[in-house]
Amino acid sequence: MSTTPVPRLRTDASGVPRYLPGRAAPSDLVDKLSSNENPYPPLPSVVAAMREELGRVNRYPDPTSSELVTELSAVLAVPPEHLVPGTGSLGVTRDLLRAAAGEGDEVLFAWRSFEAYPLLVWATGATAVRIPLHDERHDLEAMADAVSDRTRLIFVCNPNNPTGTAVRRGELGRFLDRVPGHVLVVLDEAYREFVDDTDVPDGIALYRDRPNVAVLRTFSKAYGLARLRVGYAVAHRPVTAALRACAVPFGVSGLAQAAARASLNAGSELLGRVQTLVAERARVTRTLRSWGWSVPDSQANFVWLRLGSRTPAFADACEAAGVMVRPFGDEGVRITIGTPGENDHLLKIAGAWRV
Ligand code: PMP
Repeated sequence: MSTTPVPRLRTDASGVPRYLPGRAAPSDLVDKLSSNENPYPPLPSVVAAMREELGRVNRYPDPTSSELVTELSAVLAVPPEHLVPGTGSLGVTRDLLRAAAGEGDEVLFAWRSFEAYPLLVWATGATAVRIPLHDERHDLEAMADAVSDRTRLIFVCNPNNPTGTAVRRGELGRFLDRVPGHVLVVLDEAYREFVDDTDVPDGIALYRDRPNVAVLRTFSKAYGLARLRVGYAVAHRPVTAALRACAVPFGVSGLAQAAARASLNAGSELLGRVQTLVAERARVTRTLRSWGWSVPDSQANFVWLRLGSRTPAFADACEAAGVMVRPFGDEGVRITIGTPGENDHLLKIAGAWRV
């Protein structure tokens, strides 16, 4: 019996965790606290910038996002050649991995951490080495111990998704001192703007005199442009050159470039919203703890509840009551900080749940 041939694909896909995005909300009546999005819509000035751009979508965008790079370079005080925008920080992450790792190499990261890491590492053919969190935090000593001759890249997700915990200046400095200079350390700072602990180091300060450090930032979270897909890397020249070589040409759309620039211009207004979310994070954490919940200190726009086997039941109870949260198997639930009203809704559900 003859069978229709199918294309030969990689056969080693089994066992790779899939990226499970927070599901779309079934209706506008549901509060979506499952994807670490910014609950506030774009500012009028950002919408106006995009509107202006709409009439030009027949043309390809500026392939290097040169105006955005110039403006970011001024805001961050880094040379323009140290900046590489990409299709969300996810796109930049993929390009960094492609630039640094392939078959036979190892990529190290904490686990649980950002769920895209295993998948993106797999796509390069490299081996993912996961170092368990200790007390919901990166175990940087164990991570440094795990560096081998084959290690090419290490992710430090700071603050960590989904636990919200952050590594501190001293421990990160000691870690960077231990990692050999030929290993690229990627500080994934997708949630940097939500950090209010002054002992959490700013990756951009750290990268300056460390050629093996790259920092990832995004416009998706604090700047509220998740749907447009724009983020960037800050790194030294050999790394940025390799990144540019690996990037998909024209990856950052004109709309995304225009909105990102307008958002930088509206920086103080947008960061005011971030302060509201940070204050709400403190309120949600405090309230849950006062009811006996165990909530790790979060420096991001979400909180983590390690509910173990009760994870699916809690997520279902939230959804039944009109709030979507993000369950991770039988480990725990991540809850994004939303507007005060959305947070009240979540707290009402949690208050009725037996801890
Ligand atoms: N890094 C971390 C730690 C994240 O949580 C996310 C988004 N969930 C990203 C990177 C990717 O963000 P984006 O591609 O939207 O910039």
